[in-house]
Amino acid sequence: MPGSTGSTGSAGPRGLLSIFPHPDDESYGAGGLMALAAAAGNPVWVLCVTNGDQGGRPGEMDVDHSLDPEIRLEELRCACREMGIAEPIFLGYRDSGMEGWGAPEGSLALADTEEVVGRMVEVIRRLRPAVIVTFDPGGIYGHPDHVRCSATATEAYRRAAAEPGGPIALYHQVMPRSRIAGMRAAMEEERRRSGDTTPPSEDDRRQQEAFERLARPDEEITTIVAIDDVLDRKLAALACHDSQMRGRRWEDPEVREQLSQMFGHETFVRVDPAPEPGEHEDLPIGLEWGKR
Ligand SMILES: [Zn+2]
Repeated sequence: MPGSTGSTGSAGPRGLLSIFPHPDDESYGAGGLMALAAAAGNPVWVLCVTNGDQGGRPGEMDVDHSLDPEIRLEELRCACREMGIAEPIFLGYRDSGMEGWGAPEGSLALADTEEVVGRMVEVIRRLRPAVIVTFDPGGIYGHPDHVRCSATATEAYRRAAAEPGGPIALYHQVMPRSRIAGMRAAMEEERRRSGDTTPPSEDDRRQQEAFERLARPDEEITTIVAIDDVLDRKLAALACHDSQMRGRRWEDPEVREQLSQMFGHETFVRVDPAPEPGEHEDLPIGLEWGKR
């Protein structure tokens, strides 16, 4: 039925669709952009590919990581309310877990690529967003679901963009190399404040190593979005993902300045249309920013 899905009927593509693998990835990477885009009048959606059911006891090896998926789905619904965007859409694959955990039956890692891409294309056709955002190919720290989400969402974009009325721009969310040192310091400070005295686990060390290796050279980053105006919304969205926060309290006003340093900008590479050499922008193309 026209209008029943938030699409714009016969008009051109409109708004922003973020495609991320787990509940919480969207808030870390693009929560500010989504809140800003929604505040400017764009329809904004999150397509969450897995149910995050391997998100229990993050950072620990050789333990049962399973978690009631309904907890994480509800956390994402909460985050979407905080960002001021539509209810999330789920593809319902199981979380594959980190490398070496052994991907469970029904997980994204074991799913048929054509099936995943086809289901993403269906969602894009139904919602008709102008812009799609997903992870960069390394998935920030190499989690198998992050890598797979990037590859399948990028392919789904290419197919949908080739159709009449398809999306017009694709962005990859990336971590700039210049931010690594600051992030590390902020996370150590945050651990100290929260009274977490346990040394980082093997799993955490591996993640940190991948995080540093997969960060992108700053000169490759095309799009740096200042999100100070909606930082509170991003922090509130992150706080919704309580099962992943390991006791962090990122809404704490005492650490706000540091959080602003850590999260005050979101960074993307515009993949399509390909940027001119040296081209940079403050906001993605293809969205309405008139009220800013
Ligand atoms: Zn994730």
